[in-house]
Amino acid sequence: MFIVSIDEEMCSGCDSCAEGCPAHILGFDGEHAFVSGDEAECLGCEACISVCPSDAITVTEM
Ligand code: SF4
Ligand code: SF4
Repeated sequence: MFIVSIDEEMCSGCDSCAEGCPAHILGFDGEHAFVSGDEAECLGCEACISVCPSDAITVTEM
């Protein structure tokens, strides 16, 4: 199981992470990304981290 954290202060609002998450658990409210779905469905693929230009996302395995 993974815990996904998005630092709203660091997020520059590009929407790349939400667009690319294969588990569809990331959302975008027009300004920032947020965890919109069930974190238990996170695959731990770190695709969101790879595409984030702001280093705003951390994914931690529990
Ligand atoms: S690690 Fe993968 S599955 Fe988990 S939130 Fe990021 S892109 Fe989605
Ligand atoms: S990829 Fe990073 S900067 Fe872009 S919306 Fe997601 S958290 Fe914000």
